[in-house]
Amino acid sequence: MKRKFLVFLLPLIGLAFAFTNLPGLKPTVRGNYPSNYFQAPVAQALLLSGTFGELRPNHFHAGIDIKSARGIIGDAVFSAADGFISRIKVDKSGYGNSLYISHPNGYTTVYAHLDKFKQEIEQWVKNQQYVQESFEIDVDLTHEKFPVSQGEEIGKMGNTGSSNGAHLHFEVRETSTQNPINPLLFGFRVVDNIAPKMHSLKVYALNEKREELGARAVSLYKSGNTYRVKGDTVLLDAGQTGFGLKVYDHLDRVSNWNGIYELVVYQDDSVIYDFTLESFAFDETRYINAHCDYEERVTKNSYFNRCYSLPGNQLSIYRRKANNGVIDLQDGQASKITMVAADVAGNSTTLEFYAKLKPNAAVLAQPIFNQKYNYVLPFNEGNMIRTEGLYLHMPSGTLYEDLYLKYDVQPERSSNYYSKVHRLNNNRTPVHDYFDIGLRPTQSIPAELKPKVFVAYCEGSRILNCGGRWEDGLLRAKVRDLGAYAILMDITPPTIRQVVFGQNMKGYKQFSFKISDNVASSPNVEPLTYEARVDGKWVLMEYDKKNGTITHYFDGETITPGEHEFSLVVRDAVGNESAFERKFFR
Ligand SMILES: [Zn+2]
Repeated sequence: MKRKFLVFLLPLIGLAFAFTNLPGLKPTVRGNYPSNYFQAPVAQALLLSGTFGELRPNHFHAGIDIKSARGIIGDAVFSAADGFISRIKVDKSGYGNSLYISHPNGYTTVYAHLDKFKQEIEQWVKNQQYVQESFEIDVDLTHEKFPVSQGEEIGKMGNTGSSNGAHLHFEVRETSTQNPINPLLFGFRVVDNIAPKMHSLKVYALNEKREELGARAVSLYKSGNTYRVKGDTVLLDAGQTGFGLKVYDHLDRVSNWNGIYELVVYQDDSVIYDFTLESFAFDETRYINAHCDYEERVTKNSYFNRCYSLPGNQLSIYRRKANNGVIDLQDGQASKITMVAADVAGNSTTLEFYAKLKPNAAVLAQPIFNQKYNYVLPFNEGNMIRTEGLYLHMPSGTLYEDLYLKYDVQPERSSNYYSKVHRLNNNRTPVHDYFDIGLRPTQSIPAELKPKVFVAYCEGSRILNCGGRWEDGLLRAKVRDLGAYAILMDITPPTIRQVVFGQNMKGYKQFSFKISDNVASSPNVEPLTYEARVDGKWVLMEYDKKNGTITHYFDGETITPGEHEFSLVVRDAVGNESAFERKFFR
């Protein structure tokens, strides 16, 4: 009965969909996705504070962010379809508490930043945490453990992990590859009648190797439904030119600036560049640093989509790249450039202008690497540099284009510097992957203090611990940024601050502490670890990394009524320790 009803209804839904899309274009979709298989993972209307493929620091957003109904945690989260829980992960940052559900149709749905799992899972997770003596767990499960049916409540919406406000991060992945796919291609009902808005155009003068000779922003204005530039023509500084576009999508009933689905660039009548945020692989997500203008992001927190590709950009989201998106104009020649940005609902926006070479452009077309450099590192080769104080090894694939490396050595900045400051360009040059760096100390370090030094990224006023291991008299680390590096020492133990704790814990639901350290660390170095025990036995303390809080919730079993001895040890990345010990009554 139910099925018949659906079949009858389908043509009507199709019709309604076509109407809401007008005027616009059908988004380009390569895959064939079921549009009525999944139900929404929440009961309320889908209001999105983030869309798939949205531009974020060092990654494309892999799902959609669904707003909480009232801005607070606790909304019920439902399984989008029948299946089984195939993975449970508890993470102090990242996705926080997350569930993965595998479905028989070959897709996996992911529910992240949950506050709580449903009771049965919550209990199982806690048991695992005690077995592993770890707050963080990541377990793969087979189908018999937790089968779920469509619409079954699996947990509560939360704010765990790297989340700033109650929301559900929801993903649809292809199970076999774990590649995330744009969830809005699966027929979820999101009201969107608003076309993307264009904010600024960037014009890059390029040389034969697609290296930037100069760049400038051009402001846009809207005339009718089309964006234009002042005077309708952009005068180019070099025959070879690339464009960049700052563009965002907007949805009904939300104020958020969300990501677009598709951008197509035409030179006269031919497509020279496009991208579609239909799907990507997690191991290519960092190519966003080549896709976007990295310097704009780092210096202004502004995202421009590059409409031409850097030589080392291997992202799979582009389908057409004539001449890599670069336009090549001769003196006196003009081209009409059209850019069409669309959202997944098919609302689209157009930018139109003419591009023409400046009469005296030949002068600017000369390479203008007027800043001095000491090394040229080709992007498609491995590169190694050895000097008296520095070892550097970049495997092939680390860079997006040849690097004109300016390397200089500056004196120690204070008595806590155990090496000179080695400056490798600056933080405005993107690097795709970790590379090896080794620094030679300039003063002898007593054996007992050798574990306390670290390779520090000391760009501007920021100090980041990048780790360090000794090899051939050099302190070595894997790093992923260009800028200044030096050897620093840290002998300051972490700080433990009581938030909720006292001698008499009767009637309390939990006890909690704030833990922090004097040195921040790079993403591949764990800044703080902790271990809490009651009467010598490991106890679970949930760690919320974004606010540095660790909390134990009394469960009535682990800590029985009576007197107990609590101990907490917190360790920083170089092994400095702080301890807290106290008796309490429960
Ligand atoms: Zn998200």
